[in-house]
Amino acid sequence: MSLNITFHGAAGMVTGSKHLLDLPNGQRLLLDCGMFQGEGPASDAKNRRFGFDPKSIDALVLSHAHIDHSGLIPRLVAEGFRGPIYATEATYDLCKIMLVDSAFIQENDYRFDAKRAKKQNRAMTEIGPLYSTADVETAMELFRLVPYETATEVLPGVSLTFIDAGHILGSASVHLTVSSSEGVRRITFSGDVGRYVDRLLPDPKPFPQADVIICESTYGDRDHNEVAGSVQELLTHVQRVCVEQQGRLIIPAFSVGRTQEILYVLNHAFNEGKLPRVPVFVDSPLSINATAIYRKHSDLLQTDIREELKSDSDLFGFPGVEFVREASRSKELNTRKGASITIAASGMMDAGRVRHHLLHGLPDANNAVLIVGFCAPGTLGAKLMEKPSEVHMFGEVVPVRAAILRMDSYSAHADRNELLRWIGCQDPGLVKRVFLVHGVDHSLNGLRDLYSEHGFRKIDIPKQGERFEI
Ligand SMILES: [Zn+2]
Repeated sequence: MSLNITFHGAAGMVTGSKHLLDLPNGQRLLLDCGMFQGEGPASDAKNRRFGFDPKSIDALVLSHAHIDHSGLIPRLVAEGFRGPIYATEATYDLCKIMLVDSAFIQENDYRFDAKRAKKQNRAMTEIGPLYSTADVETAMELFRLVPYETATEVLPGVSLTFIDAGHILGSASVHLTVSSSEGVRRITFSGDVGRYVDRLLPDPKPFPQADVIICESTYGDRDHNEVAGSVQELLTHVQRVCVEQQGRLIIPAFSVGRTQEILYVLNHAFNEGKLPRVPVFVDSPLSINATAIYRKHSDLLQTDIREELKSDSDLFGFPGVEFVREASRSKELNTRKGASITIAASGMMDAGRVRHHLLHGLPDANNAVLIVGFCAPGTLGAKLMEKPSEVHMFGEVVPVRAAILRMDSYSAHADRNELLRWIGCQDPGLVKRVFLVHGVDHSLNGLRDLYSEHGFRKIDIPKQGERFEI
């Protein structure tokens, strides 16, 4: 069977997820259309050059709404793609707000940088936005909603089933059955795999037997710390930074997923009288809307969370939380004195309002930055994890006196053992090929060793643009 796959993103790296299937009948199916992030002008250049003609794509299947998986859909559309986009309903709802937000952030960041460059009397090196909000609107009209566990024909001879991946609301692994006169090929793309721990979302679900598996590897060589104790750890940080030092605890977080989880934990702590009286600011208009979407799709949450909703109708809000919508209020917070917790996007700190909080907050030794998610190499988040004495932001040198804290336990990605558990539903003898994507070198190599120890043969780590016959 002439069936090929080409890896156009998340190949040897974690962003830009984009895998192109060339089908036996000549049609082309794209899995995800994510944005490259974290490499400044290099990412920008990659985001402007797909490596294939968007007009030649017949359909797109989207695993979940995170920008490194969905963020270039409006660009694809701006360059002529007009096929259907298959996604779960929750993914559609989240994309509707996240892609508009992405267009806004690009426009705002560009304007801010341009203003600053002018003030500093230097040449403008930044490049304009990748797409407009009008492109987002056109893209949203192309979505076709597919429920979990429901086989749907997406192209002639191609059947799609979404399996709950437990990573963020609406997230799915993608199981495809490709039929031709020469036979049938079953392909599973993991999307991003979530955790098998008691949190907002149910565990990742098992998937039907596949011949070819494309699997994410974000934490392929590492196990997360135990979740038990993580609430106490978070509260200890709050106690030290906000109560003892009267400083600001800045928590950079994805507006979707991580922010709701942190709020859920704080809500519990507040209800149980464990959270000291500290003002909490959620400085992300997007997370306000995302929280509403979590409420709308509460049927997708864990059973016990649904039970809890009966007695506490607002799992993400409690007295003392302020959701900040207006930019002017966000600016006031930058220079606000006294103790507070600020949750702001983006999680990797390369865009959005959190950069302004860091610009003002990093020089003060009483403050702390708590990193709760994965930060791609090259991003400001990854740089801060190295605990440097200074960082460069907005063309300035900013001293880092604030403490840099880290907690893995809130990660939305499966760790090494959980990735093994995810693939454990498969008979390794029947899997002909495994491709490892969405990881840096050491995590990709670690997962390859682990999977091969467990009987999986022919495991490849594709390079950017590499094509394979499957
Ligand atoms: Zn994701």
